[in-house]
Amino acid sequence: MASLSASNCVAFRTANFSSSAAADNCKIGHLRQWSPIPTKLYRPQGLRCGSNAPFRLSGVRAQVATLEEAGTVASQKVEAPVVVVTGASRGIGRSIALALGKAGCKVLVNYARSSKEAEEVSKEIEASGGQALTFGGDVSNEAHVESMIKAATDAWGTVDVLINNAGITRDGLLMRMKKSQWQEVIDLNLTGVFLCTQAAAKIMMKKKKGRIINIASVVGLVGNVGQANYSAAKAGVIGLTKTVAKEYSSRSITVNAVAPGFIASDMTAKLGEDIEKKILETIPLGRYGQPEEVAGLVEFLALNPAASYITGQVFTIDGGMVM
Ligand code: NAP
Repeated sequence: MASLSASNCVAFRTANFSSSAAADNCKIGHLRQWSPIPTKLYRPQGLRCGSNAPFRLSGVRAQVATLEEAGTVASQKVEAPVVVVTGASRGIGRSIALALGKAGCKVLVNYARSSKEAEEVSKEIEASGGQALTFGGDVSNEAHVESMIKAATDAWGTVDVLINNAGITRDGLLMRMKKSQWQEVIDLNLTGVFLCTQAAAKIMMKKKKGRIINIASVVGLVGNVGQANYSAAKAGVIGLTKTVAKEYSSRSITVNAVAPGFIASDMTAKLGEDIEKKILETIPLGRYGQPEEVAGLVEFLALNPAASYITGQVFTIDGGMVM
């Protein structure tokens, strides 16, 4: 994302969440009872909550044995993956939550302020046969993050997949950027990813299994005028992704980053025609991406068995902007 004007900023202040009142502010707005996962949506060879099959062989033989084993468990009953999606009330996070919910996952739908929109996302997931839990909380606040992960484990016993998606922009040229503009973006877009990753990894470590996907940005790779704060945070997310991937590889937890270019969402909606025209000239495919396209890539990384051998990578999805 590479917006250039302050008018793109979401008028949200993290100060709305005082740490002393953290637990009270975190509310579970929407929790439904267990319902069976529809067979057609269920993916038995994917990330399986009940499977902890040890690697008994090494190298390629081990992979073949694992794939064969995956085939033999297709008929066994296994639990649906529990997924936490931060910033899932709108835009890319909403599409990711819906895609994973439709794939049969149990999805915690996190939001900061848009409770109505988040409830709608949860309802849509349940209408498609998944399970959802709506959780209001600021992911840059440690107490909120702990409550959020606890809410998922209280409801469903575990966390299998974490999607660090929540993000904001507070754009301005470096010369004029206030420290508060810098700090707010770093606090949510980078520290929030650190906090959620640390909290979820504690659960995943015990199971020796899990997938973490961080939504970064192409500007974390190439920079962007007016986004010193945002591009620094996203570059930080990429460094964090690679480090956590290394630290947790021995626990079979994979950690990857998805770096979108310009995606149609509230973040990019207010750029104005002139800026949009200039942006489109820099995109070889000549259009903005859709949130559903990012969600498709995230779903693959989160659930597909073929993604189990991918870790520490950054996937650009940008219509060819960065190549
Ligand atoms: P968006 O439409 O503005 O949605 C942002 C989401 O983050 C909302 O659900 C919002 O919740 C949530 N959020 C904001 N502050 C939060 C907080 N403190 N705690 C928890 N959630 C919070 O943004 P988007 O375009 O979908 O972007 C999603 C992610 O993709 C971000 O990390 C962004 O940097 C990245 N990205 C976007 C683009 C793009 O072109 N759109 C490009 C590259 C990367 P509320 O609704 O409650 O405010």
